Amino acid sequence: MRVRFAPSPTGALHIGGARTALYNWLMARHAGGTFVLRVEDTDRERSTPENVGQILDALRWLELDFDEGPILQSERAERHAEVLRTLEEGGHTYHSTATAQDVRAYKDRHGAEWGFRGEPEADGAIRLRVPEGATVVHDLIRGDTTFAHEHLDDPVIARADGSVLYNFAVAVDDLDAAITHVVRGEDHLSNTPKQLLVLAALGADQPAYAHLPLLHGPDGKKLSKRHGAASVQELRERGFLPEAVRNYLALLGWGDTDDETIVSTDDLVRRFTVERVSRNPARFDVDKLRWMNGRYLRELGEEELTRRLEAYTGRDGLRPSVVIAQEKIQTLADFWPLAGFLHDGPADDPSARERWLDEEGRAALAEVREALATLDAFDAPSVEAALRGVVERRGVKAKQVFQPVRVAIAGTTVSPGIWESLAVLGRDEALSRIDGALGQAVRIA
Ligand code: GLU
Repeated sequence: MRVRFAPSPTGALHIGGARTALYNWLMARHAGGTFVLRVEDTDRERSTPENVGQILDALRWLELDFDEGPILQSERAERHAEVLRTLEEGGHTYHSTATAQDVRAYKDRHGAEWGFRGEPEADGAIRLRVPEGATVVHDLIRGDTTFAHEHLDDPVIARADGSVLYNFAVAVDDLDAAITHVVRGEDHLSNTPKQLLVLAALGADQPAYAHLPLLHGPDGKKLSKRHGAASVQELRERGFLPEAVRNYLALLGWGDTDDETIVSTDDLVRRFTVERVSRNPARFDVDKLRWMNGRYLRELGEEELTRRLEAYTGRDGLRPSVVIAQEKIQTLADFWPLAGFLHDGPADDPSARERWLDEEGRAALAEVREALATLDAFDAPSVEAALRGVVERRGVKAKQVFQPVRVAIAGTTVSPGIWESLAVLGRDEALSRIDGALGQAVRIA
């Protein structure tokens, strides 16, 4: 099996493109085949080196390694010209100056359903002669579709200057790379008969095709930033893990059962076949991905999660706060808003201060300070016992003690567990923050 991913580098790698890449990669790895990367960079204005770099970067981040390539389509112009000459010499093409308007006029005369046939001329663009008969597209997901040739226009395959057009280049590139399975988005379905006509004129066999249903947001609309993320780059910035993204994208349109959720990449490789891909449009739901990402995150273990969070935040020494925050985060991006106060000091949330550091709250806080100052050990169980002691002595609800403490050390009402947080801060820092909140000068305990 030889498959390919053939992105046009016009910007960031879209999530739909990432799913196409993933399915090709899974097929190749499942079958022990070859995964080829071809960069369709013939649109010279949009295919900048930066854009090519973005695609490579996104694939690297997703850990979808390719075995051959990147083959740059732009570097194959000579080969395209050579194949074009072969077709010309074989009598498969003719020059035509017919414009889109001429084609419309032809259809007005002959009937809209009839494919355009031009008169050979001395110059003009190069059209492929569509022979009699029919082309059947065998699609592994959608079954067979028959295109009667009489309804297909003679396609333009090269401009008057000899530069070839997209569908010609794709057919030649797939042929030269000996691609056995073309797996791509459904939006390319209408190109397939044109590409097959080129292959047939070259006497080449059809590869197998699979056109993947498009991705939508949960509202059924085309996937965009509004749905939480539209590109792989955004997923990365939002703190998703590549292994979770692979799992989630694999299940968007593929899976043995509806309630399938966590499937490791190794299992996907073992089980993936493109024949099992659904024909229905799939819905990308960023909330489901968040949930799944949280599961993966907790499975990493403290050491690896710390490593990833340090890479993500660009900070070090995070291990103690990772240990106490890991149960409460679903993405790498959730970490700093929750636990950053442990490293950078309390956040500034005036409404939290107003709500919890009133007279009553400050009285509780002062009592907590005394209890913490005299503790023998400053670990989470001892701190917990001290705080619960204050709750008991004051005869109030637990949160009337815990929340003022939380606001004192974190600046807000969201944080990891309160005694774990205090223990991570250590006695000196904890007392100094409490003193800060009480507006007192620091006393020596
Ligand atoms: N370059 C096309 C795209 O990015 C894909 C073409 C193909 O897979 O045949 O949509």
